[in-house]
Amino acid sequence: MAPLLPARGSLAANPGMTVDKLVVPRAHWEILSAHAARCWPEEACGLLGGLPGLVHAVYLVENSLHSRTAYLMAPADQVGAMIDIEARGWEVVGIFHSHPAGPETPSASDIAQAYYPEAVYVILAPGEGGVWQGRGFFIAAGTVQEVGLELRE
Ligand SMILES: [Zn+2]
Repeated sequence: MAPLLPARGSLAANPGMTVDKLVVPRAHWEILSAHAARCWPEEACGLLGGLPGLVHAVYLVENSLHSRTAYLMAPADQVGAMIDIEARGWEVVGIFHSHPAGPETPSASDIAQAYYPEAVYVILAPGEGGVWQGRGFFIAAGTVQEVGLELRE
């Protein structure tokens, strides 16, 4: 992973919080939410590649646990995605997974197993009327700080 960017201003509280929002183009959001719906009732997962604060590509990764309450990225998929991200000069700007029974906030195990302080953890959960909702978080050293997701056309 790239070294941490220097913390700035009010973001200094969390050393991993390098951007104040993550912009997700709507077409990419639709890929994410469709994947979460397709995997339901199992957790879905994957990576977001791009430049800090901006998603350029979504990498869908198999949840090798096929669990309703946990995920483990299939290593071959995860490594392939990371190689592609690096080859394009991007970074892993986000790591997404779904909570099929909600809520769209990190679980205790999500916090304990967060190894990428500079990535935004995007968590999706089904909301009212079957519309998937998502929230983003920086998770570093056991602390969680929400970062806004901005859907953009
Ligand atoms: Zn989770």
